[in-house]
Amino acid sequence: MPYKTNNFNNRRSSNNFRTNSRPRQNVNNNRGGPKKDYINPSRFIKVAKPIDQEVYVAQYDFDDFAINDIIKQNLKNKGYVTPSPIQDKTIPQALAGQDIIGIANTGTGKTAAFAIPLLNLAMMGDTYALVVAPTRELAQQIDGEFRTIAKGSSLSAAVLIGGSSMGVQLRDLKTNPQIIIGTPGRIKDHIERGSLNLAKFSFVVLDEVDRMLDMGFINDMQTILSKLSPTRQSLFFSATLDSRVKTLIETFSNDPIEISIKTGDTSENVHQDVVYVNHSSEKIEKLHNLLNGDDIQKVIIFDDTQRSVERLSTELALRGFKADSIHGGKSQAQRQRSLHKFKQNELKVLVATDVAARGIDVSDITHVINYSTPNSYDDYVHRIGRAGRAGNIGYALTFVTK
Ligand code: AMP
Repeated sequence: MPYKTNNFNNRRSSNNFRTNSRPRQNVNNNRGGPKKDYINPSRFIKVAKPIDQEVYVAQYDFDDFAINDIIKQNLKNKGYVTPSPIQDKTIPQALAGQDIIGIANTGTGKTAAFAIPLLNLAMMGDTYALVVAPTRELAQQIDGEFRTIAKGSSLSAAVLIGGSSMGVQLRDLKTNPQIIIGTPGRIKDHIERGSLNLAKFSFVVLDEVDRMLDMGFINDMQTILSKLSPTRQSLFFSATLDSRVKTLIETFSNDPIEISIKTGDTSENVHQDVVYVNHSSEKIEKLHNLLNGDDIQKVIIFDDTQRSVERLSTELALRGFKADSIHGGKSQAQRQRSLHKFKQNELKVLVATDVAARGIDVSDITHVINYSTPNSYDDYVHRIGRAGRAGNIGYALTFVTK
């Protein structure tokens, strides 16, 4: 089913949700709260680099790339004039058929960096492509980016994510879509049922590889990669390149080139500071005062568990803030609704668990507040990456009990 008529233009795959299946990816549901690494509070303090200190001069324009005119026009329609650094460096190499490891922070434009070469190749003929992402939200966001970049072409896609109708996915798969976007668990389910045969898939993107490994998807990822066509092009994106990520990539790629546009541990354009409290009972009043400040326009607040997130969101709503929550205990439809309202500015505050917030791309989030400290520094980096997107300075505040 082509992009221009249905599939990518309708939302069946993402809207037809079942609320009774518990999400596989929720790791934040323990009542006692998660085990945490000790992180010295000084690591939560950092002055953002003024944005104009780092003006990247792109080597290419989108028009320079040998890509389908439909894509060029759609990029113009999206307002993409100049390639972002990761796009500038990745797209020519990917178009040349290279395997790539892209090391890039969140919000750098990495989705289009792989979407453009992938969609171009798919439009040229019968290349089948698979994109694997750690969370449902990210898979849906990738789907959204693909739809707008491929609009008007005859490409088709299926989105295979948990918590979403199996029937619809099975129907989509019967139409032999050229593009599959999904999360590891559900993709593997389809392979095991025999509803998905990856043997002809010769282009694969693994997005946020480090996160997928953190979430325990190593076996699913290995199974998926081993079922693909042995002759293929592979693109891997990760915020970090530790030994686990390297090992996986080395096993499943062919002499990849590494493209890194990461400039530091944390998002360079996020201004980071701590909020000290003497006792945790003071936190809610401090938070209330912060939220009343003029500078906070749109904020994600992180807390540890589904319960604490729900409690905090209810408390803030009672206090008159436009607040809602997003966590793994909510159905996919509820999560989508909250996210939509947040994007549309109907909400000022979104309270979230780490997993649920992963992959959220809302470009005008001004603040990230860590109401509880993150479980690890890696989680911290991912959390604060929600602010300071699309070239804006963002702010991250972390509550620390003295
Ligand atoms: P991503 O890292 O793919 O989540 O992208 C981050 C944000 O940047 C998204 O809101 C994209 O729509 C936007 N974006 C990506 N590439 C470009 C570009 N070349 N020009 C302007 N905005 C872009």
